[in-house]
Amino acid sequence: MNKPRRALLKVIVLGDSGVGKTSLMNQYVYKKFSQQYKATIGADFVTKELQIDDKLVTLQIWDTAGQERFQSLGSAFYRGADCCVLVYDVNFKVSKGYDDGNCSVRRDGNDNVITADPVDPDAFPFILFGNKIDGGSSRMVSEKKAREWCASRGDIPYFETSAKEGYNVNEAFLCVAKMALEG
Ligand code: GDP
Ligand code: MG
Repeated sequence: MNKPRRALLKVIVLGDSGVGKTSLMNQYVYKKFSQQYKATIGADFVTKELQIDDKLVTLQIWDTAGQERFQSLGSAFYRGADCCVLVYDVNFKVSKGYDDGNCSVRRDGNDNVITADPVDPDAFPFILFGNKIDGGSSRMVSEKKAREWCASRGDIPYFETSAKEGYNVNEAFLCVAKMALEG
């Protein structure tokens, strides 16, 4: 019998601070959620093993503080990345006026739109997570809007997640793993 093939895949997670990047990773890898907000300092990674068909996949998922723009992150952060996860908060209050993130919600006329730095889209596949969908009526970006945004950027896959409730987190990261594997 053939031994399963192994793959080590690097995934980077980008988005404004506070959108839930660290929480999504903690929920996916440790099945834990904390209400407390701890700013992530610098870049760090966690690993998760999973099997996809006949392959043992180790995902190395890199976290970072979201206020850093992609370009200002050290090149070691994104070098060799196999997939890039963009995260935004579907309840984001635009009026607070964050505009320094890699993936933000901004006011455009009467619309709330998702924006992301157009960083080398050919370098690796992108996927978008709309997080905190447990927020109920405070939602600012509709699923339809988010899907339109993804469709207009070469059909980026889109998942709505709740790191708090664990909703869709496994499914979203499984898609990440498959995309990373396919390259
Ligand atoms: P990061 O800066 O992107 O890493 O964001 P964190 O993971 O530190 O989360 C920021 C805050 O949002 C924390 O208080 C989390 O508890 C909260 N949070 C993260 N994910 C969710 C979610 O899915 N639902 C809700 N309601 N809160 C969340
Ligand atoms: Mg963090």
